This record gives sequence, structure tokens and C-alpha cells, in this order.
Amino acid sequence: MNTIPSAQTGAAPVLNVAATRVGTRALGPGLRSVVWVQGCPFHCAGCLAPDWIPDRPARRAHPADLAAELLADPRVSGLTLSGGEPMQQAKGLAALVRAARAERDVTVVCFTGHRLERLRERPDTADLLALTDVLIDGQYVARLDDGRGLRGSSNQRVHHLTPRLAACGYDFDNRPRTAEITVDGPEALLVGVPPPGVLAAFDAAVTAVRSPRATPAPPAPRQPT
Ligand code: SF4
Repeated sequence: MNTIPSAQTGAAPVLNVAATRVGTRALGPGLRSVVWVQGCPFHCAGCLAPDWIPDRPARRAHPADLAAELLADPRVSGLTLSGGEPMQQAKGLAALVRAARAERDVTVVCFTGHRLERLRERPDTADLLALTDVLIDGQYVARLDDGRGLRGSSNQRVHHLTPRLAACGYDFDNRPRTAEITVDGPEALLVGVPPPGVLAAFDAAVTAVRSPRATPAPPAPRQPT
């Protein structure tokens, strides 16, 4: 397994980023920007983004630079942190949130495969937990995917760590799912926790593009849970 030596150590944590999206309504309340980090210690069967599980070098980004990128759209009111496993890069993401909040008082939604109780035992995740408004915890279990809510399966829990998003009217647990597909040149990105059938349709479309009679396309990243 490769490691990212400066991602968690040193004075200026550098993030190892799989992908970003500026401005989406598919991953939390309001218009949000999303950062997906590279690397996850879990290997959930049915993970939507297996390309982002390996702990390998991807795009290296300084938190302040990434914050400016994610806030490029002045309508963005929140950040969503996903992956990969955000808690693998908790210090860098905490620096990202602090840099963003120096410019705008964004809310923060964070996905993690870890359980909150275990995270609270870890000193390296304390800062990010303190900055997170909503934490969605637990590993994805495909047989418990009930097609509802922003969590991927019913075993995952929604924790309002602050009251900021508790009364906004957004039903994290049971809302109808939405997803967005963006195309940037030859790359396609599925953003959101997809409703039933959308992932299969997305995969079929990507497979068709990759067929020998079509122009080859690079891997299509997808949003894990
Ligand atoms: S579903 Fe989430 S926690 Fe599970 S392997 Fe994929 S990125 Fe990791």
C-alpha cells in the first residue's frame, strides 16, 4: 500500500484528492461543493467508487487552495466531505474547513465508514468532528440499501453534531434520493447517493462509450457512501 507522507504530518497538511465538484444539490442541503478524498481502509461490497479505495497518490492540494476552489461559486453555502475515507485525512480536511470558513460560514456534512463512538476516541479526528455539522457514519452494506435518504444503507446513522442543519427541513434519513451526472470532456462523474437503477444506467452508458467501436474514455468516478 502506498502512503501519503505529508497528508497527516507536518505543519501544512496536504490533501490527497480523488475529485471535486463545485456546486451540487445532490449531497446535502442547499448548493454545496464536494471533495472526495483518495484512499479508504474499508472495502465495502458494492462500494460505488472502488477506484478511490486504494491509498495511492492522486491530486495533491493544499487546504487553502482547495477552499478557494470550492467556494468559487458565490452561491455555495456548504461543503460535503466524502471519499474514500475522510477520516484518513482528518487534519487536512479540518484545515480545509477552517480556510473555507475564514471566507464564508459554510455548513459541513461529512461521510465516514467509521462509527462516531470510535472516532471520539481518536485525537487525530477531534478537530474535524468539532467542525462538522452532520456526520453520516458506518460502512455501506448493500443488502441494507433501502433506496432512501442521503445515507447509503439503513445501518448508517445521521448525527447532527451541531444544530445548524437540524431544523433546515432536509430529511437526511428518508428523503427521496437524487443524483447528478456531470460530463467534463471525456470524464463523467455521478454525484450523489443514487436512486435505485441510476447506477446501473450510468454503468451501462459508460460501458457503451468504452466499447471498441467508440472512442475510449477514462475511468468514470462515482460517489461512494
Ligand atoms: S463505501 Fe465508503 S467506506 Fe465503504 S469502501 Fe467505499 S468509500 Fe470506503
